[in-house]
Amino acid sequence: MMVSSFVIYVLSVINICYAATLRDTEPTCGYESCPAVKDDMINVHLVPHTHDDVGWLKTVDQYYYGARNNIQNAGVQYVLDSVIPELLNDPSKRFIYVEIAFFARWWREQDDSMRHIVKGLVNSGRLEFILGGWCMNDEASTHYNAIIDQHALGFEFLRQNFGECGRPRIGWQIDPFGHSREQASLFAQFGFDGLFFGRLDFEDKEERMKELTMEMLWHGSPNNLGEKSDLFTGVLFNGYSPPGGFCFDIFCQDEPIKDNKQLHDYNVDDRVKDFIKAVESQAIHYKTNHIIMTMGSDFQYQDAHHWYKNMDKLIKYTNMLQETNHSNINVLYSTPSCYLNQLNKAGIKWPTKSDDFFPYAHRNHSFWTGYFTSRAALKGYVRETNAFLQACKQLDAIAMLDEYFNTTYEIQVLKEAMGVAQHHDAVSGTEKQQVAYDYAERLSHGRASCQRVMNDAFMQLMPKLRDGFPGVTWCDLMNISACNHTEINKKFVMVVYNPLGHTVTRWMRLPVVADAYTVNGPQNEPIQTQIIPVDDRTKSIPERKGHMALYTLVFPVSVPPLGFSTYFISKIPSYANKKKMAKEIPRKITNSKEDKIVMKNEHMSLEFNKKTGTLTKLRNLGNGVDLDIQQDIVFYYGHPGNCSESDFQPSGAYIFRPNNTTPHVWQRSFPGDTIKGPLVQEIYTVFSEWVTQVTRLYEGEKYAEIEWTVGPIPIDDKYGKEVVARFNTTLASNKIFYTDANGREVLMRERNYRPTWKLNQTEPVAGNYYPVNSRIYIQDKEKNVQFTVMTDRSEGGASIYDGQIELMLHRRLLYDDCLGVAEPLNETGSDGKGLIVRGKMLILMDTIDNSAKMHRDLGLKTYMAPIPSFAKTDYKYSEYSQYYHTTWSGLTAPLPPNVHLLTLEQWKGPAVTPSTSQPYLIRLEHIYEKDEDPELSKPVTVSIQDMFVRFEIESIEELTLGANLLLSDLHRLKWQTTNTEYVTDNERAYKVEKLVSLPQTIQIELSPMEIRTFQVTLKGGQPTSNIDKFTVFS
Ligand SMILES: [Zn+2]
Repeated sequence: MMVSSFVIYVLSVINICYAATLRDTEPTCGYESCPAVKDDMINVHLVPHTHDDVGWLKTVDQYYYGARNNIQNAGVQYVLDSVIPELLNDPSKRFIYVEIAFFARWWREQDDSMRHIVKGLVNSGRLEFILGGWCMNDEASTHYNAIIDQHALGFEFLRQNFGECGRPRIGWQIDPFGHSREQASLFAQFGFDGLFFGRLDFEDKEERMKELTMEMLWHGSPNNLGEKSDLFTGVLFNGYSPPGGFCFDIFCQDEPIKDNKQLHDYNVDDRVKDFIKAVESQAIHYKTNHIIMTMGSDFQYQDAHHWYKNMDKLIKYTNMLQETNHSNINVLYSTPSCYLNQLNKAGIKWPTKSDDFFPYAHRNHSFWTGYFTSRAALKGYVRETNAFLQACKQLDAIAMLDEYFNTTYEIQVLKEAMGVAQHHDAVSGTEKQQVAYDYAERLSHGRASCQRVMNDAFMQLMPKLRDGFPGVTWCDLMNISACNHTEINKKFVMVVYNPLGHTVTRWMRLPVVADAYTVNGPQNEPIQTQIIPVDDRTKSIPERKGHMALYTLVFPVSVPPLGFSTYFISKIPSYANKKKMAKEIPRKITNSKEDKIVMKNEHMSLEFNKKTGTLTKLRNLGNGVDLDIQQDIVFYYGHPGNCSESDFQPSGAYIFRPNNTTPHVWQRSFPGDTIKGPLVQEIYTVFSEWVTQVTRLYEGEKYAEIEWTVGPIPIDDKYGKEVVARFNTTLASNKIFYTDANGREVLMRERNYRPTWKLNQTEPVAGNYYPVNSRIYIQDKEKNVQFTVMTDRSEGGASIYDGQIELMLHRRLLYDDCLGVAEPLNETGSDGKGLIVRGKMLILMDTIDNSAKMHRDLGLKTYMAPIPSFAKTDYKYSEYSQYYHTTWSGLTAPLPPNVHLLTLEQWKGPAVTPSTSQPYLIRLEHIYEKDEDPELSKPVTVSIQDMFVRFEIESIEELTLGANLLLSDLHRLKWQTTNTEYVTDNERAYKVEKLVSLPQTIQIELSPMEIRTFQVTLKGGQPTSNIDKFTVFS
């Protein structure tokens, strides 16, 4: 396999220098390059490694250069500088490198001779890339689309620069704080052979050590994808640190090995004895005669010689005892993949696991469930920016922009910013404040960069007769009713882009200054509108300073798949304005005679208590099902403490620990203002000065929307607070609730229960929290009712009582939780008084059978919402429509409702056949699980040849999910388990179409939850670019 891949690579890569380098040294990487072991001994695989956080206490660039070492002495450039000579000097030495965000920074600074040397080390297996993502992503608050993208970004860097020897085979999630089953499934689909991680619940770990189940086969998608998502998974013994006493880094205080008997303090015998003790105490908890020791930690190996010199001696003197003392311990330099290979060769049966590793606690009262919500604004920004990146890549692809536009570079800026933001101290919210600002700034720069690409694309796609489309601008603060463009201009167009493969109808809410506007659609048809005054709460948000909008202009937009629609918006002149005013602004109704307020459309009805403005009843008018419900927003006081023991564990950036199991409820009540208009009804609920919400029911929608605004969280009482939205219903949910994993498959949760060990619950609230990336629901099987809450970002969620759902929205805390960040999670916002966060929840109530259809569809429309942009124009409609398309779709027809176009972008990729025209990457996904919906859960077939209006496909090849290998070349290791026979991969007959004689229709079949990845080239497409996107920075 190595040889054929090598040939393919040379054929497809244009960089002649690189090809020459590879010919010089025949690659011997991979399992073939692994060191020899001794079958009759305990083999100790020493894995020299460094764990380099892509931002945490310092920013990613501060870490790279070793700047601000007063915060943390860490400089990644020195790690790579110092490891390379050590590896060169001794062929037995090994090193793994993990985070490509750092490696790429270093690589771009190297000259040709250093690159040549490094390629040699990679080709001989001495330097091995493990994981290979842009970062080691968080698993609790990331979305699967961003996880796939950030890995594909790292993989592509490695593929372009190192070919097959640079292809990672092992997942290495040594530091993330809990592990998602979806992540395991994605890793398996990347073609990984195994996964190692460091953190799991301390009770789980104890049990596994006792039962020898630290290593297992994890079923990543037991109900849907089956074997192709199975992943061998190992729990590391020491987290990711060396055994106690054996840290040989310059920043460690452990004793070096002093082996000259002539000098003072000779300590070899003692040190070896201690080491053997460490080996034996680890080996008894693992099944084979191989163990892995992680020799490294955070930012270690800045002076690699310290480590290697002492490990050399450790290996020498320990192994010497094999001769002198009949010792059966054999120590060697190794890598995670070489260790895994030995486990595979052991030919034993492994236990299995089908749930996940959430939540994680390292001791009683210390559940790492706070970070599911920490930095809720950053979490929202990362999610929204994912959609922006997808739209940017799609527009670049459908407009077929070539290198003249420099779009490869522009898109790369946002790809890298998003890659960095997925790190386990980024979107997780566990970084210092200055680092959080840096992540947000990177995303903002990336978005600006992508806006240039999108404008270039619009300039290609818009004009009918001539170019000269004026370009559009975007508004990033629409969620707080702020947008310069819509505030300043009396007449403008709004171009809405829809990144989904389906026609989408959504509600627009534009910040405007006047109380009457006309809106016309793409065919000049008048669009019904509603004007709503901006409420005082919104006006008081400090980040809105300087914005003038007094009203929100509400109207529906409809946008074709992968396309745009244009809306023409004009302020009505003042004389007409006056006449219309009374009619256009609905009055706030607070004096209705009944003691309840009802909001109703054709599908649902909501009842509110008039005194408190809180929801009391939901009715599904389609099937007549009623649900008594109490919805409110309350808060827990964060537990204070000094961490000295578990009883004194405070709530912090990582940890959620309320000081009481009952949250604080406000006693005061405020009457709820309502707005009833032709398009939307709204009820404003005030829980306190700093906690408010608006519940909305739009015409024709089967869901209600709750927009919450929380903050500034007061801290004058010296208590941190954690704010949660609660839904108390009468459903008999019987301890069971359901949460999604990374926005995809749903896992069943049971209160105070773990599927694989007997839980001793010490935190009845925090210990029942799980990540909610997009949805949480409860069911009453007898009544056949499901109540679902969709979120617009990742949050922590739970069901603390039967029939109840709670979601943590925002948190502000005054104690550091002593897990390293050394800062309380105290976001202060632009005015220093406390950050205000605003977000949305969508609520659904239907029969169990009907619910998947609604939450799958809404999940897609929420995370890939249409993106509005604006342009000033003086043209009349007749002129504008003569020059420009007012609506356009990149697809010939909408995709079936259960199919999602997950990826569309220009992508060089690992094609077999050297391509003369620019290739594109396409991922198609079935968004339903098996048996979720009677119809939509069935397998579905789409024709890819007829899909895109501008594409005539010339060749198509199927790739692994990470897009770095032809699927037909994937051969994963096989494992035997205690409850099934051999697990095999590639059982499905993957269809890999070759270049010649493509049929007219290329049918792609998708099974439930399946994602298939294709690289296509187009007939008469533009020539392949010679520019390597990973060197454009240097
Ligand atoms: Zn880390």
